[in-house]
Amino acid sequence: MTFKELSIIEPILRAILEKGYETPTPIQEEAIPPTLNNRDILGLAQTGTGKTAAFAIPIIQHLYQETDKNHKIKALILTPTRELAIQISECITDYAKYTSVRHAVIFGGVNQNPQTEKLKKGIDILVATPGRLLDLMTQGFIKLDSIKYFVLDEADRMLDMGFIHDIKKILPKLPQKKQTLFFSATMPDSIAKLASSILHNPVRVEVTPASSVVDTIEQSVYFVEKTEKCKFLIQVMQKRQPQSVLVFSRTKHGADKIAKILGKANIKSAAIHGNKSQNARQRALADFKLNKINVLIATDIAARGIDINQLELVINYDLPEVPETYVHRIGRTGRAGNAGLSLSFCSTEELPLLKDIQKLIGKKLERFEF
Ligand code: AMP
Repeated sequence: MTFKELSIIEPILRAILEKGYETPTPIQEEAIPPTLNNRDILGLAQTGTGKTAAFAIPIIQHLYQETDKNHKIKALILTPTRELAIQISECITDYAKYTSVRHAVIFGGVNQNPQTEKLKKGIDILVATPGRLLDLMTQGFIKLDSIKYFVLDEADRMLDMGFIHDIKKILPKLPQKKQTLFFSATMPDSIAKLASSILHNPVRVEVTPASSVVDTIEQSVYFVEKTEKCKFLIQVMQKRQPQSVLVFSRTKHGADKIAKILGKANIKSAAIHGNKSQNARQRALADFKLNKINVLIATDIAARGIDINQLELVINYDLPEVPETYVHRIGRTGRAGNAGLSLSFCSTEELPLLKDIQKLIGKKLERFEF
């Protein structure tokens, strides 16, 4: 599946491809078509699944195609935290960069003047946290009567953070007729109730967290401190001499560092992540498939798009923050009934992450000391 096949049009398509996104993530595949068809969406997805693009891209496309270019606020994205608001705003900047769609982001804890100045110039999309939105509405800086698209992001966190009263004040200010996209990582009763009160005949999209690991995969964990991990990785490589290894690093910078250190030990490897050009990534992948290099180092996002089966070994150089990610990572070895092996490096700080993983998969990993 490609973004083009999901009916994403130029110039948004160009902006997405420039970001280095090769294929849509599962939530994007499921959510983009009905959103483009003006359906309400009930989305069950956590951060890290690509959900921001799943709602932002179709909204930008809708606005790009509209003839009415008066820059009255037509889309409202409500999100619980300042960090999320900024992240969403950055995504919109990127995806809308070849369009005339304008947006602003508002959140509390900072001077409101730069925010209200931006609003006065006229915008199409507003990204907001609930408190500051209500505040600026009360002061008369914001009217929501032109809203056609409404996104409630991280609904469960909104409720946990006590924003329900604010939301209940905001909802009646929105026009009755609009498209609503509702996202939450979990769906307890309180959230299901809220969702059903604001959605009309929604399409439910869900990325089910993986929890089961095939039993042909041998899983071990090594207790090794952060500063020792590189040394240990080199030892593992020299001892096992594996033909195909995927090493997961939490950060792009970390991936580069591992590649460099392996290089010094004469172990050929390549790091693939979002900062590498498409060409560099494809070359690395081709070399890996031809066994010219035996080690690929990837971040979770970069690994998602690559198609390699039959890995001999998966190494969790850093443990993932989200336990389901562990299952996805090691699922790349031991495919089609082949024996697979996964080694996880766990430092003292990562012990809570290990606990979460073991809870999810329902068993304890075999432990070794470095
Ligand atoms: P989110 O779940 O929206 O926080 O997105 C998680 C990360 O995935 C962000 O860093 C996005 O830039 C990235 N991302 C979103 N969609 C794609 C895609 N189709 N391909 C690769 N990366 C993506």
